[in-house]
Amino acid sequence: MCPLAVCDSMTDTLHCPDCETEIESADNLETSSDVPEVEVEEDGSFSLFENRDLFLCKSCKRPLGVGRSK
Ligand SMILES: [Zn+2]
Repeated sequence: MCPLAVCDSMTDTLHCPDCETEIESADNLETSSDVPEVEVEEDGSFSLFENRDLFLCKSCKRPLGVGRSK
């Protein structure tokens, strides 16, 4: 259920799968609010979601998850 974030059910810490940086808090993340997200509909049209924050690994900039802002 977490397509982007790396979910570890045994702990509540997150590790970047690329550089293995331990993500303990928002201090270990960078956010980018400039990445639009597109959802493609079954009929081929698409919807654009605005104002989403993309969370990136601070070390290697790998996207780890998307947090919805208001
Ligand atoms: Zn990383």
